[in-house]
Amino acid sequence: MVSFEALYEEAQQYIPGGVNSPVRAFKQVGGAPVFFKKGEGAYVYDVNDKKYIDYVGSWGPMIVGHAHPKVIEAVVETAKNGLSFGAPTVSETALAKKVLEIIPSMDSVRMVSSGTEATMSAIRLARGYTGRNKIIKFEGCYHGHSDSLLVKAGSGLLTFAEPSSPGVPADLTQHTIVLEYNNPEELKEAFAKYGDEIACVIVEPIAGNMNCIPPSREFLQTIRDCCTDAGAVFIMDEVMTGFRVHKHSAQGLFNITPDLSTFGKVIGGGMPVGAFGGKAEIMAHLSPNGAVYQAGTLSGNPVAMAAGLATLELVSEEGFYDELKAKTDYLMDGIAKIFAKHDLPIHINHVCGMFGLFFTHQPVNTYKDALTSDIEFFKQFYHGLLERGIYLAPSAFEAGFLSNAHTYEDLDQTLKAIDETLADIKG
Ligand SMILES: *Cc1c(COP(=O)(O)O)cnc(C)c1O
Repeated sequence: MVSFEALYEEAQQYIPGGVNSPVRAFKQVGGAPVFFKKGEGAYVYDVNDKKYIDYVGSWGPMIVGHAHPKVIEAVVETAKNGLSFGAPTVSETALAKKVLEIIPSMDSVRMVSSGTEATMSAIRLARGYTGRNKIIKFEGCYHGHSDSLLVKAGSGLLTFAEPSSPGVPADLTQHTIVLEYNNPEELKEAFAKYGDEIACVIVEPIAGNMNCIPPSREFLQTIRDCCTDAGAVFIMDEVMTGFRVHKHSAQGLFNITPDLSTFGKVIGGGMPVGAFGGKAEIMAHLSPNGAVYQAGTLSGNPVAMAAGLATLELVSEEGFYDELKAKTDYLMDGIAKIFAKHDLPIHINHVCGMFGLFFTHQPVNTYKDALTSDIEFFKQFYHGLLERGIYLAPSAFEAGFLSNAHTYEDLDQTLKAIDETLADIKG
């Protein structure tokens, strides 16, 4: 047996905090992070060969399950011909065509290597297109770690944001306005005050970075209307929801058309891919056709394109999302019943393949609501399930994900583990 503590100790000697992305460090739940060596279908295996049913799915990309034979074959075959050229390949056209077929609101799409790059570039394009600087984002939504977006709400209503990390100049965040999610009235007020200065509104169409919070229809429609009236660009950040919640993503589910969309996670099927795209009139401003600069040495990397295309072909199969939704509904329904049986509070939000468990008595529609979830309870719940071979995100504020590789047997086993964990916590 290798101890995770020892591996983590060693990693920390060479890597800041031992991890390459902070949430992996298990700070919120305590203990050393699990070190994995293999994934197959719905399962991940740690370095000691312990098997877990996985509800993280690499934070979303693994929607067809880990190491799907078709995805792996596409990657291996492509890799045999070389890893990168920094010049056009037909694989980029193939993935772009597929993405545009799935997302009709986009006339063209530019590939990048992460969700952060996608949102950062979409915002630059929106600013370049409108000639305006101000942007609106919503509290609790995460759009990657670029400077303009690492902000927290200022002290007063409709004031400009403050940096949420040292190293981000206030000179930059002063152009960002942070408003409450699911609050159309506040949005209308902001547009009444600053309408002709606003370059864009960026939103997670289903929030997945304060656990899982669906939007009200009115909220999304108000964004659409305000942007149209003010000549601002509506950016739907579908990095998490894209190709996950509906066959046409969240914009298809809610039937609301953004001006620009951003993607990541599922679009690369586990490889580093992001993308942004939208209306021809706006995309025409992007270099090399237009003046707004954006570039990437590894953008459109052929191996990454192959993984993305194979994954999008699998999710395009008839009935894929019906199956994923049915499985998610089944698991959530089961969890609700078990919590009721143990007389413990829970509020569950879920949308096809994406879910959030909040340990609270109240409905959860905003960031403030999400903060009512009982973190101490979550820690016990987390470790109880980890011990029983169920792997959840090590934070109470991250959404959970299913894949279609999950079987009903896996879901029943998960429910049994939850039942036992709750009995333990109460006992
Ligand atoms: C994950 C995520 C990002 C950032 O993507 P990275 O690939 O981690 O840079 C941006 N927006 C949303 C909605 C996300 O969930």
